[in-house]
Amino acid sequence: MDFELTDEQKMLIETAGDFAKNEFTPVAQDLDREEKYPMEIWKKASELGLIGAWIPEEYGGAGVGFFGNALITEQFSKVDLGISLIIAGTFGCESIYWGGTEEQKKKYLPLVAQGGAISAGAFTEPDAGTDVAGVRTRAVKDGDDYVINGNKMFITNGDVCDFMVTLCVTNPENEKRYKRQSLIIVESDRKGVTITKIHGKMGIRASDTAEISFEDVRVPRENLVGTSEGQGFYQAMQFFDTTRIMVAAQGVGLAQGALDKSIDYVKERKAFGAPIATFQITQQKLAEMAIRIEATRNLVYKSACYLDQGKVDPILNAITKYYAGETAVFCANYAVELHGGYGYIDEYDVQRFYRDAKILQIYEGTKEAEVLTIARRLLT
Ligand SMILES: Cc1cc2nc3c(=O)[nH]c(=O)nc-3n(C[C@H](O)[C@H](O)[C@H](O)COP(=O)(O)OP(=O)(O)OC[C@H]3O[C@@H](n4cnc5c(N)ncnc54)[C@H](O)[C@@H]3O)c2cc1C
Repeated sequence: MDFELTDEQKMLIETAGDFAKNEFTPVAQDLDREEKYPMEIWKKASELGLIGAWIPEEYGGAGVGFFGNALITEQFSKVDLGISLIIAGTFGCESIYWGGTEEQKKKYLPLVAQGGAISAGAFTEPDAGTDVAGVRTRAVKDGDDYVINGNKMFITNGDVCDFMVTLCVTNPENEKRYKRQSLIIVESDRKGVTITKIHGKMGIRASDTAEISFEDVRVPRENLVGTSEGQGFYQAMQFFDTTRIMVAAQGVGLAQGALDKSIDYVKERKAFGAPIATFQITQQKLAEMAIRIEATRNLVYKSACYLDQGKVDPILNAITKYYAGETAVFCANYAVELHGGYGYIDEYDVQRFYRDAKILQIYEGTKEAEVLTIARRLLT
């Protein structure tokens, strides 16, 4: 066990940190206000190899592993979670990597890693989120095609993606509930795909979220992820075992950003003739933030290292994701409090952090779902 980062990892942190500082900072507030997708930043990030950096070099990525991707995600999220999510995230590609055929990996992963396509992962439906196996979108075989009908909800990148890895029911007759689904790649320009952008999110407003409907959408059978039907639920779980760690890295970054901004502010702001940093209650808040951030960061690093070693520990991942959400919400809340009235005004970043943080307890598995996973495994 070695807790020292390598020189390459330190350099990655510097590159990602500088990129976020230079590219995200000047536009984050406006993108949030205007709910605007940062396409220019996405293009620049792809030129620097910062998109899908975890993707191995043989599939066109930078090959920094999931640990490296967590480091990038943390740096990005220190500045803005909405932008970080869509620049560091590679929605659905994780499923292709873990469960796709060699042909699919060679076709789709380089496209995303090199800025040739944007992906989405379409699991959630209007009536099925936490209950992943409860999806109803149906894919029926017809000759050499699948014909897809159904609706997906809250899909990140939905409105800008080129393809989406979509969870569909292919084997409704299977007596095992978890063996009825398959993942199918659906190109967004297929006839019968309708995409409706969702407006008015509480936070991460630079990210794109959409509702998607499929009406007799035809895709070739080779778009099935992997070689056999009925694997979709398990492939989705594998996807979440990866992305939950990246969401946790988002939490560490956001919390660290909130702490950094708070430290700067409390040194400057005076009350009763002294900087508010001199008050013990202020110091306690900063210390509590730092304690939680350090604990969460260690969880993220451990989970990401395990993943790179091919060890999947769903309890550890659930603990990591759960605690990161709690840490982010906790730290964003303290950051607003430490900024007093100014923390409530949109000129100050901490109000955005406060709104953004909440999603970390909802997507990629709600905090309640993580608790269920942890408790269920403890009791079996
Ligand atoms: C901004 C945003 C981006 C998103 N991006 C994506 C995306 O890219 N792809 C995608 O597929 N989805 C995405 N989602 C969907 C997200 O993952 C789901 O919203 C989330 O999993 C919860 O599902 P739900 O909204 O259907 O809530 P529900 O499952 O209906 O849950 C409602 C409440 O009930 C609780 N609950 C549910 N079941 C249980 C239980 N058994 N025991 C105790 N409590 C329970 C939940 O924890 C929650 O508190 C996104 C959502 C948002 C808001």
